[in-house]
Amino acid sequence: MLRLYNTLTKKIESVTPSLPKEFTLYCCGPTVYDYAHIGNFRTYTMTDILVRVLRYEGNRVHYVMNITDVGHLVSDSDLGEDKLEKGSKREGKSAWDIAKFYTDAFLSDSAKINLVEPDLRPKPTDHIHEQVDMVKTLVEKGYGYVIDDGIYFDTSKSSDYGILTGQKRDELKEGARVEINDQKRNPTDFALWKFSYPKGRDFDPKLDDIKKRRQMEWPSPWGLGFPGWHIECSAMSRKYLGDQIDIHTGGADLIPIHHTNEIVQSEAATGVHPFVRFWVHGQFMMVDNEKMSKSKGNFYRLQDIVDKGFDPLALRYFYMTSHYRSFLNFTWTGLDAASKGLEQVHMFMRKVKAVKVLTRNELSNEKLVKIDTLRKKFTNALENDLNMPQALAVIHETIKSNIPDGDKNDLILEFDEVLGLGLKDIAKNDTAIPGEISELLKIHEQYRKNKDFKKSDEARKEIELKGFEVKDTPAGAVAVKSKL
Ligand code: AMP
Ligand code: ZN
Repeated sequence: MLRLYNTLTKKIESVTPSLPKEFTLYCCGPTVYDYAHIGNFRTYTMTDILVRVLRYEGNRVHYVMNITDVGHLVSDSDLGEDKLEKGSKREGKSAWDIAKFYTDAFLSDSAKINLVEPDLRPKPTDHIHEQVDMVKTLVEKGYGYVIDDGIYFDTSKSSDYGILTGQKRDELKEGARVEINDQKRNPTDFALWKFSYPKGRDFDPKLDDIKKRRQMEWPSPWGLGFPGWHIECSAMSRKYLGDQIDIHTGGADLIPIHHTNEIVQSEAATGVHPFVRFWVHGQFMMVDNEKMSKSKGNFYRLQDIVDKGFDPLALRYFYMTSHYRSFLNFTWTGLDAASKGLEQVHMFMRKVKAVKVLTRNELSNEKLVKIDTLRKKFTNALENDLNMPQALAVIHETIKSNIPDGDKNDLILEFDEVLGLGLKDIAKNDTAIPGEISELLKIHEQYRKNKDFKKSDEARKEIELKGFEVKDTPAGAVAVKSKL
């Protein structure tokens, strides 16, 4: 059974679903005001692997990832500009166009690193009604209160506040975490709904500058405004996954504010505790010992990796070389090493395809046991709090093992359901290697084994004359098309 570190209990625990073999999983998605960077994609890949592991183990997973297209303010607190409006000014496009453009970019990058499609990708701009409803409930229950710039959640009313960080609410100093707003009852209180104009009045051409008018705003029982950042996740997860979620994921930076706030407002609105049974957080990708982030400008996009000649899936492999709860320092040398590791697996897959070694029905008992042991090792690595470096090691151990190549191939393709390295496609692409070349390769290998190097060289030359190259790999020789 899968065991994961639960940020809520601060323990490694067995992950059980609330319904037999059926999990609900919510992941906080991107704010689409700019490109996602490869640090963000580390967190999405962690979630992706978790979903794949649960499915590999025979569970149904209802997987929802939101796309934040309104309400996330630049400071992560409730003051400052909306990131979407900021993007709009930066590029001279409407906030709606910015959201569309960066959502498409995100989806295209996600596909390149083989992230499985969530079942749903809800957006807060499509769920204003649900968010307003939840805010109404919170006001009615006495958790929400109105001040000049919006409706805020009174964190002193919630005994669970800070349960994820273990920090008590009154230990937090004014302004230490959030900017100061004199009218808030407690420094940790946060916005549920923000007014476009003071006290929720409508736009007034005599008082308001038309040029500064928000592009994204909606009528509500309290006047024109827009949702606070956190309410979208509480309202949309409730709509699609119910009052309690099995697993909720995100990056470690979301723990102290976003997830802390999601918990108190969801539990206050529904009365169900805990809102989330397992909280899973990914640690940061770093650059020179600093968090990779848009605000610091020390980030790379997937396209930067591709521009340097790397396969996006080498990045995926790179992520898996470290444990998700450890910091991962990004370096080009590290990425290069990951790329070489991936290439070794590709070489093996090509070789199998080229020489068509598919001798599955002649397995001895000893080999069947070996296959079973490898599969168990792989599963144990996954189940041990997603130990992906160990899981990758099992792939290489499989390649080097003494089971028939065809069976290694099958086992690796099975493992790839979790790893998502697109190995099936590698095998497919190489159908371009003609049978004649495969035969010559076999001859070349046979002579080489018999140490008849003259004859093996002749076979190699013949292969080369036909436009292919022989590459010797730890897994044996493979033929690849020569570059012109
Ligand atoms: P954002 O678009 O800023 O809301 O971030 C999207 C996701 O990426 C969130 O789950 C963040 O916690 C996560 N994230 C942000 N920076 C990093 C980083 N350097 N490494 C890993 N995850 C990150
Ligand atoms: Zn969220």
